[in-house]
Amino acid sequence: MEEKGPKYVMTPLSFGQSCHDINWISKTNATEKIKPYICLICKQVTNNFLELDCDEHEDEKEVFVVGESCLKRHLKENDHLCPIQQHKECSSKTSKTVQRQIDNLQVICPLQYERTQRMQVEKMEIIKACEFEGKIKDVRDHLDKCPLKSNCYFEQVGCAHVCIEQDLIGHLISSHQFHCDLIKQFIQRHQVIITGFLKHHFFFFANQASNNNNGIGGKKRITIGNRQFKADKG
Ligand SMILES: [Zn+2]
Ligand SMILES: [Zn+2]
Ligand SMILES: [Zn+2]
Ligand SMILES: [Zn+2]
Repeated sequence: MEEKGPKYVMTPLSFGQSCHDINWISKTNATEKIKPYICLICKQVTNNFLELDCDEHEDEKEVFVVGESCLKRHLKENDHLCPIQQHKECSSKTSKTVQRQIDNLQVICPLQYERTQRMQVEKMEIIKACEFEGKIKDVRDHLDKCPLKSNCYFEQVGCAHVCIEQDLIGHLISSHQFHCDLIKQFIQRHQVIITGFLKHHFFFFANQASNNNNGIGGKKRITIGNRQFKADKG
């Protein structure tokens, strides 16, 4: 049966820490070139590169590559068992050299890629709105000025999601719970600030009132700004 509506288009750049969409990176890089960076858990290109180096399988010839966030999630969901063998205390190491190679991979603008994907799915004429082509490490800076960028409506409360305008509604629907949690946290954070502010002012005014009550001749003196007013005793 034919699916109705646009098919799911994966966000190419994980603005958080998860691995990069392999299809996006394959647009400008040969499969052989990116093969050593593929995360064994999600099969995408690792963002924060890690190599598993547990003693339990140190004799294996294969290099076990994972993205940091994928490994963390895997360990959390699998009772801290290594993704290679069912053993605990999974050990991993980073590699500055490999990370640099990944950061230097040439890519096109992730939002233009996303837009092109969507246009292909919807069988629309592909119009290029962003010409960016550069290294992965420069993408974040590029996105600050990319003409295709739409920020999430919940940016002010902490959602860092960036996408093309057409995908924003989808993000708002799929991340509803995430946004609710952000709002709750935002209110909690500000409650602490407001409570602190009120406490401070309560003590300030209480102090001021006690000073006023000690006015000369038994008369209360009420201070408003720089002016003092006499008030009847009692
Ligand atoms: Zn991964
Ligand atoms: Zn292991
Ligand atoms: Zn762009
Ligand atoms: Zn959002």
